[in-house]
Amino acid sequence: MEFEPVIGMEAHAELATKTKVFCGCSTAFGAAPNTQVCPVCLGLPGALPVLNKTAFEYVIRTAIALNCTITEKTVFDRKNYYYPDLPKNYQISQNYACIGYNGWIEINVNGEKKQVGMDNVHLEEDAGKNLHPETGGAESLVDLNRAGIALMEIVSRPDMHSADDALAYMETLKNLLQYLEVSDCKMQEGRLRFEVNISMRRKGEQKLGARAEIKNLNSMRTALKCIEYEIKRQTDILSNGGKLNQETRLWDEASFCTRAMRSKEQAQDYRYFPDPDLVEVHIMPEWQEKIRRQIPELKDAKLARFIADYGLPEYDADILTSSKPLATYFEQCQKFHNNPKSISNWIMTELLRELKCREMEPDDCPVTPRHLACMIKMIDEKTISGKIGKQVFSEMLTTGKMPDVIVMESGMSQILDEKEISAIVEKIISENQDTVESIRAGRDKAMAFLVGQIMRATRGKANPQLVNQILKDKISIK
Ligand SMILES: [Zn+2]
Repeated sequence: MEFEPVIGMEAHAELATKTKVFCGCSTAFGAAPNTQVCPVCLGLPGALPVLNKTAFEYVIRTAIALNCTITEKTVFDRKNYYYPDLPKNYQISQNYACIGYNGWIEINVNGEKKQVGMDNVHLEEDAGKNLHPETGGAESLVDLNRAGIALMEIVSRPDMHSADDALAYMETLKNLLQYLEVSDCKMQEGRLRFEVNISMRRKGEQKLGARAEIKNLNSMRTALKCIEYEIKRQTDILSNGGKLNQETRLWDEASFCTRAMRSKEQAQDYRYFPDPDLVEVHIMPEWQEKIRRQIPELKDAKLARFIADYGLPEYDADILTSSKPLATYFEQCQKFHNNPKSISNWIMTELLRELKCREMEPDDCPVTPRHLACMIKMIDEKTISGKIGKQVFSEMLTTGKMPDVIVMESGMSQILDEKEISAIVEKIISENQDTVESIRAGRDKAMAFLVGQIMRATRGKANPQLVNQILKDKISIK
């Protein structure tokens, strides 16, 4: 019997507003615990929430981009539950009238285009964080800096049927949110989190099976591992005639599996009701139109502009615009030093490789656009060779020093002095007479060996063009 996975996803994105969604506290990441709080986000008696208009508009912007129908009259509801990181004992969310609903997004799964439906997009507030220090003590700590940060929830329809579908969806959605400038989507800082709903059904059947919901997956890699694990676990149980329960499960990174946490709660368990402290918000067509016009340049437009303005090949432009932060990085480099193709080459090779292996966003890289542009300028001005550039690049990555400082401190500047290079060339020629003879006899390929010897003798610092020129002259003159 063949089974097919049915996957839906919920994405939680913290919005890129400077202040929280119902108070004026800062949303900056990494502050000392409980220093970005006030009576509203601490849930003190009598404190009243005031809606952050920018956060609301960001959700409308996203809903428009996700082809959603926009609700005319929205309300906020209280989702009641008790947890130490939720000081009010309810979360302000939207249940009865979400900002957007019935949308779709196109994803590209290994070259095949598919549509994933959007059930709804709504605005809510984030909870705080419970910390469980590994000091051996019995106590846990609560940090409420995150409590009340604007959180956008995007709920997809269960339209995905493989781990590849899910990965394409996560990547496409993250890219879109970054392009819309509504969230920086830094998953390592928890600014974008995914939850997966997954069930199995017999191929061809329409009815959905009992689903498992896996919460708080903070990297795409984890989400993928978890989906693959669940497909196998559920298939095994069903193939052996077993039954599955609807439940919430947790991914256990240490033992590489999911574990049952609790049976899945239903909407009625939360006793939703409209929050009497907040008014209805009417989204008039003119307001929608104004927000639509504020949508920043998206990927396709940027790609076309990169080809037209910078003369880049489509291949390059496609990679550079594959994420908004990367495109911004490129354009910043270009402002410091005008050499689009060379900048593009360095970004596509060295930079992307490092970012990928460090799971880092371009704007967190110690090699800033200023660093990279300055280094490429030094190559263009022949202060260093491209080969030395690679050493400088890895030095910039570990020390964060500017390239000119690195080159000065380590004496990596290129040898451009012809006399100096000539002396070394002569020495290598005299040490390799056999090779020289074979070159004269027509074995051109042996040239590369001599060039290699010369570069080694100068620790890669000799200017390669000069080395080639001088070497050719000396061999044919002699
Ligand atoms: Zn506050």
